[in-house]
Amino acid sequence: MESIPNLTSSIARGEQTARANVESSIKAAENLNKSLNAFLQIDREGALQRADEIDKSPSKDTLPLAGIPIAIKDNICVRGMQASCGSRILGPYHPPYNATAIERLIKAGGVIIGKTNCDEFAMGSSNENSAFGPVKNPWDLTRVPGGSSGGSAAAVAAGLVPAALGSDTGGSVRQPAALCGVIGFKPTYGRISRYGLVAFGSSLDQIGVFARTTGDAAAVLQVISGRDSHDATTADVPVPNYIGETEKNLEKGFRLGVSRALLGEGLDEEVRAAIEKAIETYRDLGVEIVDIELPHAKYAIAVYYIIATAEASSNLARYDGVRYGFRAEDAPGLRDMYRKTRNEGFGAEVKRRIMLGTYVLSAGYYDAYYLKAQKVRALLRQDFANAFKRCDLILTPTTPTPAFRFGEKVDDPLAMYLNDIYTVTANLSGVPGISVPCGLSSEGLPIGLQLLGPYWSESTLFRAAHAYETVNPFTARPRINADSAA
Ligand code: GLN
Repeated sequence: MESIPNLTSSIARGEQTARANVESSIKAAENLNKSLNAFLQIDREGALQRADEIDKSPSKDTLPLAGIPIAIKDNICVRGMQASCGSRILGPYHPPYNATAIERLIKAGGVIIGKTNCDEFAMGSSNENSAFGPVKNPWDLTRVPGGSSGGSAAAVAAGLVPAALGSDTGGSVRQPAALCGVIGFKPTYGRISRYGLVAFGSSLDQIGVFARTTGDAAAVLQVISGRDSHDATTADVPVPNYIGETEKNLEKGFRLGVSRALLGEGLDEEVRAAIEKAIETYRDLGVEIVDIELPHAKYAIAVYYIIATAEASSNLARYDGVRYGFRAEDAPGLRDMYRKTRNEGFGAEVKRRIMLGTYVLSAGYYDAYYLKAQKVRALLRQDFANAFKRCDLILTPTTPTPAFRFGEKVDDPLAMYLNDIYTVTANLSGVPGISVPCGLSSEGLPIGLQLLGPYWSESTLFRAAHAYETVNPFTARPRINADSAA
């Protein structure tokens, strides 16, 4: 598939219509969905209608995403489409409005072709928590695509769309991007409006971007970033020209920080080898590698699963059978109705987290767990501030292993939670990060490297990722892809 700038310019020049472009994307998505289960809804009619409008628009050559098909995780509101969040409790819910990120994509000429499958309420690392069955990894259908934005990752990996949106609360864009062999970008907290993103952990959640190249990810981030009056946590920080910045060379004396402690125990040997090789690639590019420490990173998983569950228990209180979506039948009274609706509507992982979150917030335990976790969170933020005095960006693996098999970790929540060991720190401290494909395992499964940067260092992340991609382009394609479907 062509890059986004190539596609938009061929549409602008009339060499190709937006309709033909969108139609081929939808056709491939429909064909492959039986094997991948990446989409929960494909909006053929609406997308083609939108493509026709773009073809007729006299200003199509000024629209940065003119006629680009885009897939959206099913926890981001798109008017007229479902927003199930991978949950039975929101199954029938159709939001009456667009998320701000969606408004901006549409204004830029993007065409939303459908809603992608995900772990229920974005809770998970394997997509096995979706109420609508798991997404399959296009590289190996017996393996997980990662989570929670597995549908968006698989759709981009399989070449169904050039870009997709996901949400990243603890790694849900970067982790599935690594497992599916695509770029996954999580911006600084406050860079993209959360208006219309269904809340999981509000102090951690950010919308993120999947694409096949850094340039394409930059093109999408460009249009959806910036202050939004609907979300008071968006920052009034200027949006640079990410696309232009991506192409710039790394300056002399550029420093990448590596924490040796993070490359220790629990890391798969092949992932370690790929990361060491990536470090060498950067060295060859003239980058200085410096040792850094993040002394509190070892507490990150514990802190994340206290704060994320605490916030989730509060955010998910609104699903009571009255306001949205599903309501249980045959409940004799109001309280029974609440109880029955939540019992039938939520899956096991969501219930586990609501209970955990309620517990850590309860009067007797608040100080011991929630308050303590907030203190360690502050220390972790300080760790990053200290590290970034010594380096421009930090390099880590994105995940401890390549894609694992279905069923392998699903009965052991703690083993599952350890997948997020490299990603949750960015959400806890609010810094941006990107996952970049950096090779294949001996079994032919993608491996991802992660770059983390200081607040508002999106341009630097793109530049460093692009520099790597230029000397080490990831050209392998999964077995299941749009061309195999054609
Ligand atoms: N895997 C993590 C979790 O289960 C992260 C989820 C996310 O980023 N939405 O909470």
